Amino acid sequence: MLTDWRRLAVGDDQPTECSTASREAAFYIAMKESAMSSFQSSTSAPDQNQFSFSSYIPAEPSQSDTRVKDIISIINNNQRKKIDLYAVLGAELAKIKYRYIKTVCTRCVSSNDVYRCIRCIRCTKNSDMKAFYEHIGGLTQYSRDYINFLIRISRMCYIYPKLLYVSVSTNDMKKI
Ligand SMILES: [Zn+2]
Repeated sequence: MLTDWRRLAVGDDQPTECSTASREAAFYIAMKESAMSSFQSSTSAPDQNQFSFSSYIPAEPSQSDTRVKDIISIINNNQRKKIDLYAVLGAELAKIKYRYIKTVCTRCVSSNDVYRCIRCIRCTKNSDMKAFYEHIGGLTQYSRDYINFLIRISRMCYIYPKLLYVSVSTNDMKKI
């Protein structure tokens, strides 16, 4: 299973540079190792965070920019960083990206999967994705690759919930 999600993650939405891809691949390997070791020792006590991926509901459109900033501020102020918070951020970004899709194709309508739709060529080809990256880039200073990386993190946590227990350092997340 864990091998599968790593392949899945690296294969999607190909980053623009090979070096980014290899750094990201190395990060997934480290995350996989951490998932295997930390999951067994982690307690079930919830973190004292305002947001948790398993119960997260994205903000209303008018509140989404504020929400993104709030999540980033919580990440910056938290000593003990869990993938959970990054997955929350990725989920919010995925929802914002989804709102930039002008017409959802018939296949995506029936799957009702936001993550699928925002990667779908048919759904994105007539939509202004550049405007999405510019908007989020202006809000967060994040690159297009990093925005997509966070979205992939949240998708992986959706598919493999045990990843939510992985602890990461700020360094791990910034060197991608
Ligand atoms: Zn589609």
